[in-house]
Amino acid sequence: MGRMVMHMQPECPPSKEPERIPKKAHGIQVNFCKNPHCKNFGVPASSETQRKGPGTAVKNDGYRIGVYGKPGMPMIRCQLCGESPPMKSNQGIFEELSRISFFLSRPCCPTKDCPNYGVPADDNKALYQAFGTAKSGAKRYRCKACHTTFSSRPPGIPTRLHKKPHKNATVFRALVNKAPFRRICEMAEISPPTLYDKIHFLHRQCLAFVAEREKHLPSRKAQRAYVSVDRQEYTMNWPNRNDRRNSSLWAIGSADTASGYVFGVHLNHDPSLDPRIIEQDALNCGDYRAAPPFRKHARLWLKGEYAESVGRPLIKTTVSMGSLTGDITMRYDQALQRNDIETPDEFTGNFTLPSKGVQVHAGYTIYAHFLLLRRLLNSIDKTRFFLDQDSGMRAGCLSGFADRIAQGRCDAFYVRINSKLSIDERRRVVRQTRRNFDKVKGANPGLTDSQIKLMMLKESMAQVAPFGKWQDKWVFHPFPGMSEPAKAMCYLTDVQGYDDDHKAWLYNKASLHSIDRFFMMIRRRVQILERSPHSGRPGQRFYIYSPYDPEVVAKMLDIFRVWYNYIFQVGKQTAATRLGLAKGPVTYEDIIYYS
Ligand SMILES: [Zn+2]
Ligand SMILES: [Zn+2]
Repeated sequence: MGRMVMHMQPECPPSKEPERIPKKAHGIQVNFCKNPHCKNFGVPASSETQRKGPGTAVKNDGYRIGVYGKPGMPMIRCQLCGESPPMKSNQGIFEELSRISFFLSRPCCPTKDCPNYGVPADDNKALYQAFGTAKSGAKRYRCKACHTTFSSRPPGIPTRLHKKPHKNATVFRALVNKAPFRRICEMAEISPPTLYDKIHFLHRQCLAFVAEREKHLPSRKAQRAYVSVDRQEYTMNWPNRNDRRNSSLWAIGSADTASGYVFGVHLNHDPSLDPRIIEQDALNCGDYRAAPPFRKHARLWLKGEYAESVGRPLIKTTVSMGSLTGDITMRYDQALQRNDIETPDEFTGNFTLPSKGVQVHAGYTIYAHFLLLRRLLNSIDKTRFFLDQDSGMRAGCLSGFADRIAQGRCDAFYVRINSKLSIDERRRVVRQTRRNFDKVKGANPGLTDSQIKLMMLKESMAQVAPFGKWQDKWVFHPFPGMSEPAKAMCYLTDVQGYDDDHKAWLYNKASLHSIDRFFMMIRRRVQILERSPHSGRPGQRFYIYSPYDPEVVAKMLDIFRVWYNYIFQVGKQTAATRLGLAKGPVTYEDIIYYS
């Protein structure tokens, strides 16, 4: 197997005997065939070396391991269907899942290699000892195994946060009403450091509040859930003049299509880590001698990886001409050119890594996002996903929900929308759609509107168009609306044996609207997350309102999600009331004074 050798350090200890596939971690093992039509789907490759040839005792597991695509990127190749997904570190996915779901977890020993790690303290009195109360009022515990003391809530708020508490509501309102940070300071008569303290405080309150509600999600029973998933990019300003390059991060978000409730929005960035310490540790532990999925820091962008990524030829973008078919082809093209097809973040020299915290390989954030959804949607009878067209999302969704797909309880669709149309073009499309509908109706006077819709959907299904290397079959929606004026769908899990009528209604439901509306509101209502104007060279644009610190981006995303789900009303309802997580709208004060 080709091992990646780069930045060879003479003091590096010799790397261990290579494993066949990355080790299972806390029940996670995603190294399996991702083709739902294949018998190997969801069946992990064996960690044992496989013998070939007649008369060998070891049974072949149906996979070969090797470097089949990009140099240094080991893959598993399914011998039944030929699909070869890149390997992923299960430990890396677990770390990312722990990071994004930390706010939901009950207090437990924080020492990662302690046997009590992950075992809740509040109902395991034999393993933990009560240890008084923290200043914040939170209970303290001591782990009997490793003697670490910890609190039932993350570390306390600095005392200066309690200055001017009456201004918290003003600041909260201003943050979600597109006030620039300087204006907020002026309006509330506070200094910039106090504003940042207040953002940290509001963030903590939002997470504590929402954790209490969302801990009920895994037991929420419903027949169906339709969930749309997309992502959004944020550009960061450079913090010092010596390196005038932007950094850029992605957030993946998921929303329930019926209620609009946003289950999570996760940025590919870990603010708790110091990039210098990670880099030194990666050098010491021999990460640079191991292939990416076998590294201790597989989840993180190391400096050497960044340098490698910059050195690779640019991903060529075929001009899509703004058409839907051109767009779909372009996405397949770009994905194939990536070093890891499942990881959308690749660098050019124009962009740099963030100056604070550590950037996470977006593929790991995506896998973790779907594993968290798998937990939150655990009691739903059938879940249907509408995904932005991206190989990483497909892999994350089909991995996180592999068991449910095999049970016939989960389906996934790609959805692609041409959003570049002007309002006039949109109107024209909708008028044309209406005319088509009327024509069919005129020709079939005996049919109801619903029967005509079904007929038109089935006609579109009969004209499927194959795209990309895998010849995925795309269906063009016969009557898209104003918000999604040109729309095509690809049924990724067409293995359930549904008849055409059933499939037609599923295609009809496919939409990214619920998550895209949330992302659009972020741009419109949070000043630092506004799209920066396209002037100057990409990667070297200084925009006065853009953020400097990725941690503030992630915190604003969390604060905005809680505001959007619980406070923001459409017709006296909030997303949370529609989903059944709240009885009525929540006030700013309910969150600020939540304890
Ligand atoms: Zn296969
Ligand atoms: Zn412990």
